[in-house]
Amino acid sequence: MERFFKRTRSSGPSGSSSSNEPNVIEQVENQSRVGLNLDDIVSDPGLRKPIEDFDIAIPDQARREYVLRGSCQPNGYVYPKTTFGNQERSFQGTWYKKYTWLEYSISKDTAFCFWCYLFKSLNKENVDNAFIKDGYNSWKRALERFNRHMGIVNSCHNEARIQFEAFQDQRHSVENILRVHSRDMEIDYRTRLTAMLDVTRFLLKQGLSFRGHDESTSSSNRGNFLELLEWYSQRNEEVSKVIKQNAPANNQLTSPKIQKDLTRACASEITLAIINDIGDKFFSLMVDEARDSSVKEHMRVILRYVNKEGCVIERFLTVVHVPDTSSHSLKMAIDTLFVQHGLSLSRLRGQGYDGASNMRGEFNGLKSLILQENPFAMYVHCFSHQLQLVLVAVAHDNFTVSEFFGYITMIVNISGI
Ligand SMILES: [Zn+2]
Repeated sequence: MERFFKRTRSSGPSGSSSSNEPNVIEQVENQSRVGLNLDDIVSDPGLRKPIEDFDIAIPDQARREYVLRGSCQPNGYVYPKTTFGNQERSFQGTWYKKYTWLEYSISKDTAFCFWCYLFKSLNKENVDNAFIKDGYNSWKRALERFNRHMGIVNSCHNEARIQFEAFQDQRHSVENILRVHSRDMEIDYRTRLTAMLDVTRFLLKQGLSFRGHDESTSSSNRGNFLELLEWYSQRNEEVSKVIKQNAPANNQLTSPKIQKDLTRACASEITLAIINDIGDKFFSLMVDEARDSSVKEHMRVILRYVNKEGCVIERFLTVVHVPDTSSHSLKMAIDTLFVQHGLSLSRLRGQGYDGASNMRGEFNGLKSLILQENPFAMYVHCFSHQLQLVLVAVAHDNFTVSEFFGYITMIVNISGI
């Protein structure tokens, strides 16, 4: 039966398809088949299930499949003769030429309308069901009946024809225009986002600040992020076409919030690379706690490990804000951090902190809390802190040096307020 389908893939009704341009119907064909059972697409119009009986999400997919296959016009078929009065009449294959919508059902020996089947209006009262549901088989007055089915300009059949042609010519349909438009917007968005990411990566690599004191358009220096973006766009035409006035006002991607999001994304990628580099190897932990200028306690975490090449690597992992610097708070923060990054305390083989009691305390220091869980996590007193202690002790014995550092401390404290 499939051989009777008239293929319509290559050209639309208006002849708008070009051999160089991909057929839009073909482009969406693969997507559209999702959810559609191809067994429901029946060639014989007399055996088809009504298009409205397909699942609510499917009719358009079914239509697309039928349009791709074309109408059922069994050329070369010997049409059976039926006796009308004293004459024998049959369906004529030559009718297809004039009535391109015409279909023939071999199983029922009846004629159907392809366009009306696909796009009949359910709301109209004068739908010609003879060519949709039941099929027409009175061949004596067939041509007259065909013309009557086509009807006047706004007949159901002609409305179906308009819809059928629009459906075939999807390149010019509103849906397709919107789709092409949104595709262009997406390409612009990706270019814009990549430019923002490039600027972010440069600033992060160089350890430069992002924001400026005055970021208004009249400012002579709008901060590193905006200034670098401006410089970049002046040298890259592709970028200049998609930022500032060439970008939607609500999609500039330059707000501080977006800058932070991009920074977090970079941090996340870097952390992931560090964790992947550690893999399932042993590692050591170095932690120091401090209070920042906003009087917030935080803990800096560094991991030390041997990589695949046998080199000792030290990587700064993160800064974690903690409610206080008690050993239990720090331990809890480390546990959370390890869970977050898939690290295991059992693979810890060393820990290095300063000499503060909350860190190296024999009973309740962070060192002891970790050793209780993993006795192999050997503690090493941070050499830098040890050096500092030595210098302080030496300086105390030399009055001039001691006085010098005393004044330095006072100056720093006064100017730091
Ligand atoms: Zn029709």
